[in-house]
Amino acid sequence: MSDSDASAEPTAGQLRTPIVAVLGHVDHGKTTLLDTIRGSAVTEGEAGAITQHIGSTAVPLDVISDIAGKLVDPDDFDLPGLLFIDTPGHHSFSTLRSRGGALADIAIVVVDVTDGFQPQTIEALDILRRTQTPFVVAANKVDTLPGWNPDGTEPIQTAIDRQSDRVESDLNERLYEIIGELSDEGFSADMYWRVQNFQNNIGVVPLSAMTGEGVPDLLTVLMGLSQRFLKAEMSIDVGGPGAGTVLEVTEERGFGTTLDAIVYDGTVREDDRIVVGGVNEPIVTEVRALLKPKPLSEIRTEKEFDTVETVAAADGVKIAAPDLDDAMAGAPIRVVRDRDVEDVIEEVQAELAEIEVGTDEEGVTVKADTLGSLEAISGTLEDEEIPIMHAEVGDVAPRDVRMAATADDSTHQAILAFGVDVLDDARRLAEQEDVDIFEDDVIYQLVEDYDEHVTAIEEAQQ
Ligand code: GDP
Repeated sequence: MSDSDASAEPTAGQLRTPIVAVLGHVDHGKTTLLDTIRGSAVTEGEAGAITQHIGSTAVPLDVISDIAGKLVDPDDFDLPGLLFIDTPGHHSFSTLRSRGGALADIAIVVVDVTDGFQPQTIEALDILRRTQTPFVVAANKVDTLPGWNPDGTEPIQTAIDRQSDRVESDLNERLYEIIGELSDEGFSADMYWRVQNFQNNIGVVPLSAMTGEGVPDLLTVLMGLSQRFLKAEMSIDVGGPGAGTVLEVTEERGFGTTLDAIVYDGTVREDDRIVVGGVNEPIVTEVRALLKPKPLSEIRTEKEFDTVETVAAADGVKIAAPDLDDAMAGAPIRVVRDRDVEDVIEEVQAELAEIEVGTDEEGVTVKADTLGSLEAISGTLEDEEIPIMHAEVGDVAPRDVRMAATADDSTHQAILAFGVDVLDDARRLAEQEDVDIFEDDVIYQLVEDYDEHVTAIEEAQQ
């Protein structure tokens, strides 16, 4: 076990780290914001304080406090910090679940101040509303306003005050546009420094993910929001059997197929027996090793891992175990420990069954990379009144094409493929059978492309 490992067996009644997701329209700055948060955490963190995590970045409370300066007094908080999911976007948000719903406890919706609300912004808000996830809005790229005079270190309110009247009024106009858009979507919102009760009011934090201005304010708001409204949910039974979610199924040299996972409850230990959701049926296996990337301070030539004996929620870890080939991204992981394995298998099955995809006798075919994304697309298609005949996780194979070709209506002889590959045989067959395949990893784009196709067919028929 490495010195920097923070996952030593914890004490009972512990509060876990809230899990934060970053959502928003493409190019609005989600990745830059995560990089900046990670970067400032590394700069501010004392040597060894920052461990790299699998699929997530943990920012401990003392580091947040260092970044946020006088904005955050560690004595006011008893949550251990924040864990940011590294993959931004609502695709990962809606496909990553925990027992209670979304894996993320809290979210940041990034909106480019100069670009305003865009389709994926609205999609993100729809998802957050549906999952009742608290969130803040990061009004990003304030530095791009003509005349903005960046400092990069001061609280954003001071930075705004320091600007010329023209810049300030330009910024205010754009911020009020965002507040107005939020209100159109049914959310009451205001500038974060005017928001008293973040549960009923969405705080808008102007910032620049690039210069770092406003990022301390954002961390402060997230920490305060978590402390006030999530504390009760953050209490975990640390001695309890671990529960987690598969982020990704990956091959790792020397370890075979492994799971990148986030553990959100209890603990996972080396040698634990676990049940993991699989493509066909739950997989029962035993943890061979729990892996964490080596600390950043060590020179690394390639991916190297330290093994740890225990991982406690909330944390990212790579799990090496036999028989993981059929494990599914987005699927639950449960430690069996003192329970009857059949009960745990049932629990995993029940959780997978909750992800409902309704199918009709006539309609399109949908293939997606995870059950969660399949559910998200099906929800969108249902809203658009597009029927689904067949929906499944996995790449587009010839049999999907054969199935799609059986649809009576020519507009239904189509496959909507989300985040999956189309096998060569399937593509060839689709050409022969006149089945159209639509591929994208943005839901609205996929559905829009399909809609345009339907319109074209209908116009041709008139
Ligand atoms: P994502 O698609 O939402 O993850 O967006 P990215 O983080 O990739 O950012 C898209 C583009 O906007 C990149 O060229 C970034 O450098 C730029 N960008 C992101 N945040 C800021 C910001 O605060 N200010 C400026 N000027 N550019 C930014």
